[in-house]
Amino acid sequence: MSSVFTKIINGELPCHKIAETNNCLAFLDINPNTVGHTLCIPKKEVDLIYDLDPKLYNELLSFSREIAVALKKAIPCERVSLNIIGLEVPHAHVHLIPINTMKDLDFGKKMELSDKQLEEICSKIKGFVNLQELLSQ
Ligand code: AMP
Repeated sequence: MSSVFTKIINGELPCHKIAETNNCLAFLDINPNTVGHTLCIPKKEVDLIYDLDPKLYNELLSFSREIAVALKKAIPCERVSLNIIGLEVPHAHVHLIPINTMKDLDFGKKMELSDKQLEEICSKIKGFVNLQELLSQ
């Protein structure tokens, strides 16, 4: 059975898409730790991130870096944290979380935002994404 993230990639489930390349996709976490919490995934369905072939692994991290830079510009925060968990969804993904304190990394304490709120956050972040450098490599 396809992962929930593969269903998003295939357009069977909606998402608040921030950016994509041929091989990677970034979208807002539906139950964010903090405003702007974003997931970066490879389009290829692989459970464990360390099982990705090295080229795709590096591509996912470079892609995540570009999204993190955009997040830092769009969302007021101390830092953008990069986390890899994977206990809920067996499809490799990077969590990018705008944080101000360690409490923002408590994955047991999620926010519930309306679709409208998520859409507003999404368009704000999109405005700062620049994949030019990445795509020209
Ligand atoms: P984990 O697998 O433990 O790294 O957590 C999976 C993350 O995916 C959680 O933060 C969920 O809120 C998020 N998530 C699950 N389903 C969706 C979805 N349909 N759209 C966006 N985020 C999701």
